[in-house]
Amino acid sequence: MRLLKELDPREPAEIGQELHRFAAQLYPICRSITGNGIRKTLALIQNRIPLQTVEVPTGTPVFDWTVPKEWNIRDAYIKGRGGQRIVDFQQSNLHVMNYSTPVRATMPLSQLRPHLFTIPEHPDWIPYRTSYYQENWGFCLSHNQMLALENGDYEVCIDSTLEDGHLTYGECYLPGRSTDEVLISCHACHPSLANDNLSGLAVATALGELLSGRDLRYSYRFLFIPGTIGAITWLARNRETVGRIRHGLVLTGIGDVGEFHYKKSRMGNAEIDRAVAHILRHDCESPAVLEFSPYGYDERQYCSPGFNLPIGCLMRSVWGSFPEYHTSADNLDFIKPQQLAGSLHLCAAVLDVLENNQRYRNLNPYGEPQLGRRDLYRSMGGESIGLEISARLWVLNFSDGGYSLLDIAERSGIPFSVISDAAQLLCQSGLLSVVPDERASKTALEGTPHYSNPTEVTSSR
Ligand SMILES: [Zn+2]
Repeated sequence: MRLLKELDPREPAEIGQELHRFAAQLYPICRSITGNGIRKTLALIQNRIPLQTVEVPTGTPVFDWTVPKEWNIRDAYIKGRGGQRIVDFQQSNLHVMNYSTPVRATMPLSQLRPHLFTIPEHPDWIPYRTSYYQENWGFCLSHNQMLALENGDYEVCIDSTLEDGHLTYGECYLPGRSTDEVLISCHACHPSLANDNLSGLAVATALGELLSGRDLRYSYRFLFIPGTIGAITWLARNRETVGRIRHGLVLTGIGDVGEFHYKKSRMGNAEIDRAVAHILRHDCESPAVLEFSPYGYDERQYCSPGFNLPIGCLMRSVWGSFPEYHTSADNLDFIKPQQLAGSLHLCAAVLDVLENNQRYRNLNPYGEPQLGRRDLYRSMGGESIGLEISARLWVLNFSDGGYSLLDIAERSGIPFSVISDAAQLLCQSGLLSVVPDERASKTALEGTPHYSNPTEVTSSR
């Protein structure tokens, strides 16, 4: 199965428009780590892929954490002397510090001031602020808006609730031939922020649509969860079965015009790390592969030492490295259809590596098999052999049962897709056979060739 071949044949810009439209549909929703915003978001994802939503009650202990109270908000504003709304939640949900406790009061500017947050360097942007684990309230506004506030009394209202309820997350499981899993995780807890949150949700949903109903080697599990506490909650509830996860990706910040950045798993040399690095090397102009660090997105939880799962994080511009990060400027204009489509394409290419990275055995290892009489070689001597034929020779030479196709692709410098096509063709020609997938098998580079004597090969024919 080749996902790339199943991808929508339309132009990337057109596919990207659709991804962007979905992000735009999710954009106005006021999400948080709990509450109706994330439920609405999951309901829209559920219209596209089979999603199970899970509700975990407030107070549930999850490792060193506790599921917090549920937060919901209907309205919020600061009104000036004339009764007009100077800061209005209905204009932008970023205006309220996420998880603000309810407030109804009239107060002088001096008292309101400590609850106001701005970005002086970008005086037109609204910052995104949260206070999940410490009860507080606040408003976020543009610096220019704040400068315009005169001394006097202001009517302040945050019509929110912070009560016992649930933490909600969504899980989409697509069974494959093996119960070994690929985990795709994205956070769904940011309000109107496009790159940080919605780009990952849109691409992961499209990836789920692409995989649905296909004959897959691995089973796939998509998580749409609140950041940090959601990943910790999921891990706590699935502690016994996370061993099934063979590969995983956290998808986030993949809609901006920046080049790809891949942050490796804590293991550093997991198959997913090598697969993404390989695709980036061949498909992108100046991608960056970053070593693991214990700060970032939910790979922090999946790669905590107790789990140490083979899960990396795919981004374009890295969190915190661009001025729009966590501000109102991370809006629908900041993410581009072309980039969203490119990210979907890249993910499909990576999954193609995982789905097709197997070991093979050359059934004719004594000398090169005569490819010409099988119509697998150039017809005229003297011409250069080209990439396809070169790939056949590489696959035949290294398919001793020890090297995987990804090992061969890395060693030859030939794209995985070409190597994989060659393997398929050689199998059809009876020159190769698949070596059954051994769980936790060593990488071929550490392994040894598997031919001990000619009779072994004869008997395996
Ligand atoms: Zn964020």
